[in-house]
Amino acid sequence: MIDTHAHLQLPPLAAESPQAVIARAKEQGVSHIINVATNISDARLSLDFAKKYPKIRAAVGVHPQAADTLFSDVQILKELEYLLGRPEAAALGEVGLDYYKNPVAPSVQKQVFEWQIRLALENDKPLIVHNREADTDVYEILKYYKCPRVVLHCYGRSIEYTRKILDLGYYVSFTGNVTFPKNKQGQEAARFVPLERLMLETDCPFMAPVPHRGQASEPAMVSLVAEKIAELKNIPAAEVEKTTDSTARKFFGLEA
Ligand SMILES: [Zn+2]
Repeated sequence: MIDTHAHLQLPPLAAESPQAVIARAKEQGVSHIINVATNISDARLSLDFAKKYPKIRAAVGVHPQAADTLFSDVQILKELEYLLGRPEAAALGEVGLDYYKNPVAPSVQKQVFEWQIRLALENDKPLIVHNREADTDVYEILKYYKCPRVVLHCYGRSIEYTRKILDLGYYVSFTGNVTFPKNKQGQEAARFVPLERLMLETDCPFMAPVPHRGQASEPAMVSLVAEKIAELKNIPAAEVEKTTDSTARKFFGLEA
């Protein structure tokens, strides 16, 4: 399995060596971890992890909640450009729009999202997209730029929206919240999305799946997400693992 969305740089995982986290994940059948940045210092760290540990690939980018930092200093723009161009950077992420209690104005978020999209297109890198209460704007912007490789992470939108996202050729990734009993919409989306269009993630240290709710999650828990998807689709977990693996390998350009 591949955990396509982890934040090993955040506490409490940050207190440990990535080596230990990787070892526990490996015991649960995790072969690779995509470590995702939320700001420029994260991005730097994520790329360092990827250089040191071959099982980690980096996603570098500025999260919509940190969007006001990107244009504050031309050096940050230049550095992001440099980091995304490195071979260890498998994707741009996480980027997107977050209209839920975000002090950064939507107009600033959109500028930053679009600037980063253009950078990803120039570098031929896929996008890991964060969308919170911004369905329409996220859809319109991705469609406008004709981004060829996109995954919407921590997915759980309506069937109607999911259909539009799939029509653009995009992927979605499910995290621990798909195991929450009250998340009926997320579970419906997981049933609806074709197996070959979905990926697995933990979004660790957040979104710990049942039965670990309330704890910090980690990449080793991605197997619980796979099991839940299998249960929802009424197929063997091995099939979920195999198909999502090949999808993620192709999407992020991972070696076998
Ligand atoms: Zn995340």
